[in-house]
Parts: sequence; C-alpha cells; structure tokens
Amino acid sequence: MPDYTTRVGNVEILALSDGSIRFTPDDFFPSVPAEAWDPYREYFTPEGEMIMNLGCFLLRSEGKTILIDTGLGIDTGHLDTLDKGKLLTDMEAKGVGRGEVDIVGITHLHIDHVGWNFLYDDGGDSAGSQDSEVERSGEPQATFGNARYWVNNADWRVFTRGALRKRAYIPAQVLPLQEQDILELFEGERQMTGEVSTLPTPGHTPGHTSFLIASQGERAVITGDAIHSRAQAQETHWSPRADSKPDVSAESRKNLLERIENDNAMLISGHFPAPGFGTLVRLEGRRYWQAV
Ligand SMILES: [Zn+2]
Repeated sequence: MPDYTTRVGNVEILALSDGSIRFTPDDFFPSVPAEAWDPYREYFTPEGEMIMNLGCFLLRSEGKTILIDTGLGIDTGHLDTLDKGKLLTDMEAKGVGRGEVDIVGITHLHIDHVGWNFLYDDGGDSAGSQDSEVERSGEPQATFGNARYWVNNADWRVFTRGALRKRAYIPAQVLPLQEQDILELFEGERQMTGEVSTLPTPGHTPGHTSFLIASQGERAVITGDAIHSRAQAQETHWSPRADSKPDVSAESRKNLLERIENDNAMLISGHFPAPGFGTLVRLEGRRYWQAV
C-alpha cells in the first residue's frame, strides 16, 4: 500500500481521495491524434480508458491545517465515476477531523474540486446534476466549519455570473461561501503560511491556481488541473477539452513543469494515480513523472 503522507521540509502532506472518474483519451484530449498516445499506453486501462483520481491534500504548516480542494461530492454532473463521495470517510479513516481545517484552498471552481464545500440537511451534498434544475431543501452548512475558503478572484467572477452560474453545483457549493462570509478572495501569489503560497497557473480556468510549498530548502507544487495526464510531463502542449484557453494553459504548464524540474521540486497531482506524490525525471530524451 502506498504511503499517503509525505514531508516537504517541515510541512506534512496527507493525500486524500474522493473517488475516481474515467474518460476516453479522444474525449478528454480531442485535439491529440490517437497514435500520439502510443508511447503512453501504460497510462491507460486494458480497455483504453484514463482513470483519474479525485485527490485532495491536507497540509500541516506552522500550526495551520490547510485542505487543498474538496473533491466531486455526491452529485457528479455528467462525469463518469468509478467511485465517489469518499472524501469525508477517507479523512475520518486517516484521523483528521473536519473542524481541524483552518483554510480550504480551491485550485479552481470546477465541479470536481468544490463538491464537499457544503453539506445539506436533506442528505445530499449539492443540488443534483450540474445540468439540471433540482429543488433542494435545507440550509447549506460549511463542511469545514472553522475554515475560510480561498478562491481566486478571476474564477469567482467568471463562475458566479452568466451561464456558468446556472450550473446546479454553483448555487449549492460555491455561492454560499459569500453568503456565509467565509470566502477569502485572492489574486496572484499570496502566502497562506510562511511555507505555503498560491501560484497562478491560468488557462484551465482564468484563475486556476497551483499551491507552492517551500520549507527547509525543499519544494513541492500541488498542480491542480494545470496537468491531468502523466503524458503531459513531456507533451506540455497537449491541452484537454476542459481548458478554457488551451494556448494559455499550455504556456502555464510548460513554465510550471520547467520550474518544478529546475527546482528539483515534488510534483503533487490530485488526478494522477493516488497518492499523487512524484518527481520529474528524464529518460532517453523524454520527461516523465515518477511516483515517489
Ligand atoms: Zn479536475
């Protein structure tokens, strides 16, 4: 069984999972020709599917407990889940109380990163499929009741207005952050503690944010959805359908991976196989992500 904890200097990192989802590569990366995947077949199931973990990470830094992302939750929109809604039981199994969390850091406002922001009295965690109008009863209660939730300002503006606001998970899991005054909007690079800071990596969404951990000369980056497939460690120009600005995301990805490689930092990904801790290595001219 892999080790679900790691350390970066004085920062302790615990990998959590809310389940997993699956895609076919031609659906997820429609601009990548099928044969271009040939060097990366080992990343697929025997049926040729990509399985993505729904990883979240709990950091302990300078007395603060920080949770990065809150998973997909129970209502999954159009996504094809293998396994879902596990985050809270996983936290409990790993000995973490919800009330311990001081800061929730959101990489971006897509459905699979905010799903457990709120709980509802009526048992569900949000208002049904993201594409349908669902009536719900009960008041939203912050799942992490002692935390402030950090959301990038550019994402907030885009996802709380216009067509995106109509997706059911936005009023259920996002808008109550402001109504309940637990929202911390941020821009650019901001310190959460002396060791953990936000790192803008736009393109997947306008305000997409990675999280940089730097302590005692060691570094790690939680990359959010700046990268989805291990193949992108080499093929940084491959941008998935979900990237709102594919050219911007490709540039962010290229710069981020160069920085991680140059800094000898750990690359921590919630969508790579759990627990998602790894480093970049070079082998026969290709750059790979290797689990540690
Ligand atoms: Zn995602």
